[in-house]
Formats: sequence, structure tokens, C-alpha cells
Amino acid sequence: MAELDLQGLLAEVAREMEPHRGEGAVADYIPPLARVDPRRFGMAIITCDGRAAEVGDAWMPFSIQSISKVFTLTMALEKHGEALWRRVGREPSGSRFNSIVQLEAEKGVPRNPFINAGAIVVTDAVLSERRPDEAIAEIRDFFRKLADNDTIDIDREVAEQEAATGFRNFSLANFMKGFGNIHAAVEDSLHTYFNQCAIRITCRQLARAGLFLANGGVDPIRGERITSAERVRRINAIMLTCGHYDASGEFAFQVGLPGKSGVGGGILAIVPGHAAIAVWSPGLNEAGNSQVGTLALEKLVRRTDWNVFD
Ligand code: GLU
Repeated sequence: MAELDLQGLLAEVAREMEPHRGEGAVADYIPPLARVDPRRFGMAIITCDGRAAEVGDAWMPFSIQSISKVFTLTMALEKHGEALWRRVGREPSGSRFNSIVQLEAEKGVPRNPFINAGAIVVTDAVLSERRPDEAIAEIRDFFRKLADNDTIDIDREVAEQEAATGFRNFSLANFMKGFGNIHAAVEDSLHTYFNQCAIRITCRQLARAGLFLANGGVDPIRGERITSAERVRRINAIMLTCGHYDASGEFAFQVGLPGKSGVGGGILAIVPGHAAIAVWSPGLNEAGNSQVGTLALEKLVRRTDWNVFD
């Protein structure tokens, strides 16, 4: 690793992305996401030995959306241990991220923690018996601690509009409540979920926050254990198999790293034992993953030996 010129590497990738900037379609289901400039592009890397590099708009906050699901999964596993797996599976769904059809056949137990139904169950598990505000503050503070940055916060406008337009999420949650798999009031679980998706974060902060996933569960900079090595192995496995909606196989094929994307256009990718990478470019491909972000990761991986299959 020491021989890699991280800054040079990112500069090359950014140069290669230049003709692609603006590709893809920005999520438009709520105005604050729809008005983001599609030409934005940022990327940040942080290594387990503490080296960092960034390029472009890596300093600019964007909406974390579904990438938050990785972090709430970590929190829920810490709170409930293996019992969490009675409430959510770990199998790719092969259906749209907000699909309700499988839930009927599978009796309200979602396929995995990264489709919306699964993420809502996980958030419900983080919420436990508390008030939503307490859980929301706990989730926000988890990000602040992991990213070592107290400015990370929730975009209230995004949270409110997620709630105002989240009819499918309400359907999923009510349906699961009917099977007894949502324990809190549906409104409380969803209020927490919408707020977690509305966290604003930069690539620099996101890579830093995900670093424990590259280092066996220990934040190597502060030397603090966040979760066990075994859990990290499992979280990374689920990121690899389920982290990119219905295009997770394609992402594994093209990039070959555990990763999680969100409709804000961000992707967190983990190089186990080496580094965490965050990329942001708001234009999405048909599967809902950042188009230029995925391409940038593919180029980066080709220039390094950072591929879990090598
Ligand atoms: N807040 C979004 C939803 O639940 C998350 C979308 C995403 O990033 O997948 O619909």
C-alpha cells in the first residue's frame, strides 16, 4: 500500500470521469434531491494506516439515503446480536428495493437489511422501546463519532419530504406490522427511518465513517472497536450481495468490492484490510445506483489490486 500514490490515483480517475459528468438521472421523487447539480463528482479514500486523499466535490455534503442502512445494521447487531436475523434475512431479493410482493409469501420477514422493508425492520430494532428523537440522535451521533466530525446532521427538508411522499414505505411497514415484525408504532419507526436517510454527509466523512468495516471492526485511527470482526465480515458479505439494489451482481462483477449505494448518488465501498472509499455523483443508472460513481470505482479498482476476488 505504501507505494500507492492515492492522490495521483484519484486525480487520474477524476480526469477519466470528466467526459461522463452529468450522466444518469438525478432522483426526482422529492425536490431537494431533484435540484442537485448532476455534474457534481467527488471521491475520497482513507486507508487503514491513516492515509487519506480526495478529489473534486469530496468536501460537499449530499444525502446519504440508503447508505445509512449499513450503519443502522451495525447498530442493530450490537443491540440485538444474532436475534436480529430472526426478523430479517440476508439473501438478495431479486426484486425492486421497495417491492412488497415477497413480504406476503415470506410472512413479513424481509429478504435482507438493505431493501427498504429490511431497513425499516432494522431501524425499528435500533429504535427499540425509545422515543424516535432519542434513536435519531443516537444514529446521528454514531456517524459523528465514526467520522470524527460533529457537524454531521440531518437535512430536515429531506426528512419531511420523505415522510410526505413515502407511501410505499408506509405500506411496507404496515404490512410487516400485520405480521408482528414492526414493534414500535409504524409512524415512529418510519419517522426514525426517514431521518436516518436524510443525513447529510461528505465523501470525506463517509469514507472515514466506514473505515472500521475495512479494518475488522476496529476504527484504526482512534483504536476503538466498533463491532466484532465476525460481524464486519457478515456486513461486508451483505454489502457485496445486496448493496446495490437489483444490480448487486453487476456491481460485484464490475467493481468486485463490498459496497452500498443510495439514491442521493453516493456509494461507500470497502477494501477489506486496506481502505474505505466514498464516491458521489448524483446521476443514477436504471438500477438506481450512481452511474459515474460506479464507473469511477471500476476505474480505481483496475488501477489497484483492490478487488476481493483477486
Ligand atoms: N429514503 C429512500 C426510501 O426509503 C431511500 C432510497 C434509497 O436510497 O434507496 O425510499
